[in-house]
Amino acid sequence: MPMSKSFEERLTPLLPGIVAQFGSPFHLYDEQGMLDAIGTLKNNLFVVEGDRNFYAVKANPNLAILRLMLANGFGLDCSSPFELSLAQRAGAPPERVMFSSNDTSRESLRLALEYGCILNLDDVTLIEKLPKMPELISFRYNPGELRQEGTNSIIGDPPNQKFGVRRDQISDAYRMARDSGATRFGIHTMYASNQRDASNLAGTLEMVLELAGALGKELGIRFEFVNVGGGLGIPYRPGEEPLDVVHLGKEYARLFAAFETENGYRPKLYAESGRYLAGPHGIIVGTVINVMDKYRKFVGVDFSELANIPRAAIYPAYHHLTVFGKDDMSTGETVDVAGPLCENFRLAKDRVLPHVEEGDLIIVHDTGAHGVAMASQYNGWPQAQQLLLCADGSVRVVARATSFEDYIRTQIEC
Ligand SMILES: *Cc1c(COP(=O)(O)O)cnc(C)c1O
Repeated sequence: MPMSKSFEERLTPLLPGIVAQFGSPFHLYDEQGMLDAIGTLKNNLFVVEGDRNFYAVKANPNLAILRLMLANGFGLDCSSPFELSLAQRAGAPPERVMFSSNDTSRESLRLALEYGCILNLDDVTLIEKLPKMPELISFRYNPGELRQEGTNSIIGDPPNQKFGVRRDQISDAYRMARDSGATRFGIHTMYASNQRDASNLAGTLEMVLELAGALGKELGIRFEFVNVGGGLGIPYRPGEEPLDVVHLGKEYARLFAAFETENGYRPKLYAESGRYLAGPHGIIVGTVINVMDKYRKFVGVDFSELANIPRAAIYPAYHHLTVFGKDDMSTGETVDVAGPLCENFRLAKDRVLPHVEEGDLIIVHDTGAHGVAMASQYNGWPQAQQLLLCADGSVRVVARATSFEDYIRTQIEC
């Protein structure tokens, strides 16, 4: 979806000055937008003391963003040793770090235990690979055939996913954990991604609460938390409905109340939202360097899609584009927009844009999540610098562009 009115209104007067100062291209993250999104989730979903979102570090691992999440009461969701180190660097206390890994190595388990963060195990076989069973343990549940609604091609349908513990394995998993010394329990699930339907997301909580109730009775344990993972969706195309977080909050409250009536307690609500918090609050600003009439009409930009927003090139996913200062569609043309890679990728295909000329600034919307986070320097093209538009209106560099030295840093010359 085009960036929010608020972001646009704050950015428009500043953008020429930012380009003059920092050059093109760059990523720009909107701190105020992220603060507002944090507030929306806190006010509607995480409403009881102890409820918490663990921001999925993979969405955008910039330390400025991680620290913003921590400063506002959120935790961090990590799935690799580097992400754990990043959480540590950001200053995350252990109880604010969730380790939701998969295909996990013994070394990763050791590092997570050493950190003291919350372990969310993706498979039953990991129990015996733990150097020591922690007090608090969680398993990722995969409902398989039991729940198919709302999944999409990003992650696939549950029976085909590589994630999580099967329904017929999950009691044994908790029994084994309990018998090896665990005394506190959580449960996790995530089998859908970029979901904007609140009823569907509520169905996920309903499913995991039902399971927590059943396991609790069967094994005589209580669940300290239920973790519904990530998957809160955002609109990428103009006209798509945003997720109704208010409605989702009401559904969550209803489901927790029913669980409490049935089981006599309310587990904390945990989640691992990443995209919702970072995605809409980042843009790429680049410059048109070529306008070319080939068999198709091409607009060439000064950055590599793969190094900056690979999902647009690879999936290919829709990212809204605008031309700064031009919105006259009466002279609009259908063009393909592409960067300099020696691959036939497109940033956009058959896109109607206002009449574009060399030197125009192109804005790519909704690039705050899975932008540089997924980047590759294929063809030797760098990641653009990353700027933060601070809530006070100032602009800070939070990552410089990758340099030639970065590009060859790991190579060893003989
Ligand atoms: C990707 C992922 C998330 C974040 O999902 P979003 O769709 O970005 O909210 C959370 N938890 C796990 C385990 C993930 O793999």
